Amino acid sequence: MDHFLYRDGALYAEDVPVSEIAAQVGTPFYVYSAATLTRHFRLFDEALDGIDHLVCYAMKAASNLAIVKLLGDLGAGMDVVSGGEYARARAAGVPGERIVFSGVGKTREEMRAALTGGIRQFNVESEPELEALNAVALDLGTRAPITIRVNPDVDAKTHAKIATGKSENKFGIPIAKARAAYAQAAAMKGIEVVGIDVHIGSQLTELAPFRAAYEKVAELTQQLRADGHNIRRLDLGGGLGIPYTRSNEAPPLPTDYGAMVKEVLGDLGCEIEIEPGRLIAGNAGLLVSSVIYVKEGEGRDFLILDAAMNDLIRPAMYDAHHDIVPVNEAAPGALPARYDIVGPVCESGDTFAKGRDMPALAPNELVAFRSAGAYGAVMASEYNSRPLIPEVLVMGDHFAVIRERPSLEEMLNRDSIPVWL
Ligand SMILES: *Cc1c(COP(=O)(O)O)cnc(C)c1O
Repeated sequence: MDHFLYRDGALYAEDVPVSEIAAQVGTPFYVYSAATLTRHFRLFDEALDGIDHLVCYAMKAASNLAIVKLLGDLGAGMDVVSGGEYARARAAGVPGERIVFSGVGKTREEMRAALTGGIRQFNVESEPELEALNAVALDLGTRAPITIRVNPDVDAKTHAKIATGKSENKFGIPIAKARAAYAQAAAMKGIEVVGIDVHIGSQLTELAPFRAAYEKVAELTQQLRADGHNIRRLDLGGGLGIPYTRSNEAPPLPTDYGAMVKEVLGDLGCEIEIEPGRLIAGNAGLLVSSVIYVKEGEGRDFLILDAAMNDLIRPAMYDAHHDIVPVNEAAPGALPARYDIVGPVCESGDTFAKGRDMPALAPNELVAFRSAGAYGAVMASEYNSRPLIPEVLVMGDHFAVIRERPSLEEMLNRDSIPVWL
């Protein structure tokens, strides 16, 4: 559920007409709803009611400072995967004790920054990383709290590029080798074992793969405790999927997920952490774009937009579907049309949708991509020297630009021509 609804045929973001934002900000732009972000965070938080827990928002889904502050102020922790995200979380006012650090390639500089600035735990993904973290912590005269991310070899049944829990993926330590890795960690003076971490992938539309992974984690918890480790925290990762079309089957809700977590892991006396990203931000954002041209092709019509693959890469990268709707609903009796919806970038991959049925549109009319809040703006690039597009946050009847569109001058000024050229 989201807060982008039509009123009298005009699409609104909460109480603000999307066309009004477009008039002030110019297209293309991303717009997020504070109410939807809040609602989705609370759904997870409430789903784990009755059990000690922390919902750590996976910042990589949408990491604008305003979004991070909004969620942090609600009590969310953060799951960061780089020094840059760590710095963002701190700049948005999130205390170190609510930040968990994930990722397979943490550098010593990133470890140092997080240990100095404050961190809840590192989710360690390999033996060499464990050794590096131990060395950095000893050097700083401290101990690094850690979980080890285990790879449970479970099929997440999602797109191959976002499945992370199979043995062939680069993530985590094979669960069969976990006891040895924990023994190694326990012997290190710069390391303090606090728990276990698992994350099997993104956009999961069934509970069964989560359950399979969590059952393995429950078993491992007992084994590690028998080995003498103080396992008191379980980080269960993120990955719960969202409906990208209104027509398709609804994925499980956070409530169903929470009930399953309590059933499988509730008796272990562990604090539970979860790391949802997409489900918090995905349906909380739209990408708004204008039609530049309608072009008649051979046997098909192209709707050429001012947004492109560099602004929203998901269709090109994951064959992802986004509902694309007119911002001003067609009047009854408007002509139906079928379009290939494309951007201006010089690649055939710059195609958002093929053969999409919608009311006929004309140049300058506005369209909105639904479910564009997660893995949208954060994955944007300046390919074709297209400026990164603005981000806007709506709350009730007001809105603010939370990232400005850079001027062409600002973009050019980032390059420099050597004096010897
Ligand atoms: C990407 C990621 C998440 C968030 O995944 P979503 O599908 O957006 O919920 C959580 N944890 C880790 C370690 C990740 O890499």
